[in-house]
Amino acid sequence: MLNTACPICEQKGRSVDGATVKSLLAISLRHVRNVVYRFCANPDCDVVYYSEDGEQTFTTDQIRVRVYQKEPEADDVLVCYCFQHTRGDVHQHVAQSTQATLIDDINAGIQAGQCACDWRNPQGNCCLGNVKQLMKSIESSST
Ligand SMILES: [Zn+2]
Repeated sequence: MLNTACPICEQKGRSVDGATVKSLLAISLRHVRNVVYRFCANPDCDVVYYSEDGEQTFTTDQIRVRVYQKEPEADDVLVCYCFQHTRGDVHQHVAQSTQATLIDDINAGIQAGQCACDWRNPQGNCCLGNVKQLMKSIESSST
């Protein structure tokens, strides 16, 4: 039976590319099987990846980087993994009203083909949505 939900927290996760799991795991890749893995974004759950067959979970301590979704309050965790922008950086840009500068930098990198979201970002895709969402939540909480 296939599970789209995390076997631990039962929240539904998005499927990720096998290359993402291989790039981000800090343990032997002998553990990786030819099955679909999904990403658990629940901040209250330690599972980062789980297999759709429910047989395997990989937790935060088995991942090479700190995962933004798992530590949404930490200022030194990367939000943008390709261009190394932390949550603290985003806060600073909002405080100085220079959000556009940060977005432009990320977009310039994407256009130059310098991003590697599939291999760098644990969620397996572009950070831009997370960055914009974070900016919005900081803006709305500071008013
Ligand atoms: Zn979970």
